[in-house]
Amino acid sequence: MDFELSALIVLLVLTYFQLFGHRVPIKRNRIFLSITLVELFAVLWSLTVRTLICSRGVSAFEKMHMCIGIYYMLVYGVVLLVMAYFTTWTGRSLKRERFGYLPVLLPVAVYAEEIIRNFITGHLYSYDVQCGFLETAGTGILNAVVVYCLLFSLIYCMLRVKGNAFARLMVISVLAVLFGAAMVVQSMVRTVIFLDFIVAVTLVVLYFVMQNPSDMLDNNTHVLSRNMLDEILSADIDAGRSFNLVVLALDEFKFVNKTFGVAVGDMMLMQVANYLSSIGRHGLVYRYGSDQFILQLYGDEKRLQTKIELVRERFRHPWITEEVFVMMSTTVCCVCCPEDGNELENLIDVVDYSVLSAKKMGKGNIVYARDLDLHSIKKEKAIEKAIEEAIEQDTVEVYYQPIFNVERQCYTSAEALVRIQDDLLGNLPPETFIPIAERNGSIIRLGTMIFEKVCRFISEYNLRDTDIEYIEVNMSVVQCMQRGFVEALNEIMDKYGVSHDQINLEITETAAVNSLTILQENIEQLYQQGIRFSLDDYGSGYATIGYIHQLPFEIIKLDKLMVWDAFENERAGITLKHTVGMLKELKLRILAEGVETEEQRARLSSIGCDYLQGWYYSKAVPESEFAQLIKKVS
Ligand code: C2E
Ligand code: CA
Ligand code: CA
Repeated sequence: MDFELSALIVLLVLTYFQLFGHRVPIKRNRIFLSITLVELFAVLWSLTVRTLICSRGVSAFEKMHMCIGIYYMLVYGVVLLVMAYFTTWTGRSLKRERFGYLPVLLPVAVYAEEIIRNFITGHLYSYDVQCGFLETAGTGILNAVVVYCLLFSLIYCMLRVKGNAFARLMVISVLAVLFGAAMVVQSMVRTVIFLDFIVAVTLVVLYFVMQNPSDMLDNNTHVLSRNMLDEILSADIDAGRSFNLVVLALDEFKFVNKTFGVAVGDMMLMQVANYLSSIGRHGLVYRYGSDQFILQLYGDEKRLQTKIELVRERFRHPWITEEVFVMMSTTVCCVCCPEDGNELENLIDVVDYSVLSAKKMGKGNIVYARDLDLHSIKKEKAIEKAIEEAIEQDTVEVYYQPIFNVERQCYTSAEALVRIQDDLLGNLPPETFIPIAERNGSIIRLGTMIFEKVCRFISEYNLRDTDIEYIEVNMSVVQCMQRGFVEALNEIMDKYGVSHDQINLEITETAAVNSLTILQENIEQLYQQGIRFSLDDYGSGYATIGYIHQLPFEIIKLDKLMVWDAFENERAGITLKHTVGMLKELKLRILAEGVETEEQRARLSSIGCDYLQGWYYSKAVPESEFAQLIKKVS
């Protein structure tokens, strides 16, 4: 009796937490609540029946075998629910399995048959005046159902669970073993009923390990976390529910953090989250990225439009904390399921792509995924895959384009240019895949690989013994802004015995520079060590004069479009001449790119360009061909 009472208290507390704590409306939470409630009723029922036995005597109770039948129905029902819980937890619908619902329906059928038959015949137990209630072969069948359900849940979780849930799997396994042992002991010791207490404690452990609200909610804003987005969207997609996603990407939120401090920034995020929760009664609010939220709405287009208007209206007013008033703007993207994507991965790609497209259009925009060219997402994904494969299989190639030194009248350097040849997509232009690699971060590994290939080339072909003084390597600013960037380059150069003056890094000013300080620190450190820097694509609109003052460039590479323009248009010609004059006065050396004709070569040399690069001399060629080229000419 004491064990039953303790179980009752534990279960009541657990129910209270679930009903009155943060409630996350997902299927597995509903199943977990059902498990707790069914077990709670089982314990309550057991206590009631025992009280009845005490007050009315066993003989009266004997006639009421329905009472024990109900207890059996509840406790064994818990096990079936546990199995439903674990299959849901894996995030994979049984509908998608080759075997379908059969392994789950089988124990349910056996359970239903045994329980219903018992209500008529009372065959699950017998009564003996001396020994009390005795279990029969029927109970043995139900116990087999329990063992089956536990084993099935365990194996299914092990095979199907995604991500790093190893620790949780271990806990489930230990619990399953302990529970099995408790069942065996209980079947031998009939004098004390402690199994309900064990079930209650097991549920508490499961609650904290698997149902922990802090895993489901974002720590700062208390809206649903990113993990939950995946789980809930998957379940909705599986169930064929349609919904709309309103994605809010705060514009320049970094500015708020920088100006007012992170604490105020956090408060602002909290306010946005609270506001979204207050208008999102018919939907769910998630924290999607550091400065991004998603409002998931079930319902029609009208509801979507109303909510969007509310959001836009709210952002016309300041966000207020005790100390500051801040005006924030947000970019809004609308993605509809199933219209814009009917699989989770696909839908998340559409969300990311919409945000990126909206941001490109400027601050405070609203974008509907249906108006975007979603085809390009597929293409981008294919390119991401090709980059990944090229890195994995080491098929990334580096070509070299010679650079002509006007004063010495020979090639004294070359630019390393990456090439990826994909089986499906063919020859991929770097102008297409480099920006994609920068966006998804693979540029770090790709860039390191290119740098290593260049160093190996310098050392293998003994460039020291030729006129080639150094190789120009394109560095993405995303790479240069990494901490540990300097150490990584040094390590590679040491490995191949390449000295710092044999490397020149080309940098383009891009909008991607979000931390000029780290970039400056890294560049300064490498410069001190003797590495030289070129500013790439000068005159293309990206590289500006201000940049030249901030970073220690020695060579300025005039963009090929600027060069070509100068030969098409008189005014552009004058601009180019004076640009060269100005850069010379700043004691910078000048390289003209895109030299394709004799006329260009002659004029660019005469206005004072120090280096010339272009198809007039040679296209970028594989390393062996380049080695031949420098041998022949030098
Ligand atoms: P970029 O750094 O401006 O490289 C010069 C581009 O112009 C190269 O294109 C080169 O093949 C091309 N080019 C050179 N001379 C001529 C010419 O006379 N006429 C014409 N029409 N084109 C000429 P490529 O190899 O397709 O590279 C495109 C861009 O991709 C590069 O522009 C650079 O921004 C990026 N890239 C290439 N390799 C790398 C790399 O290893 N790392 C990084 N981060 N970016 C790279
Ligand atoms: Ca370049
Ligand atoms: Ca360039």
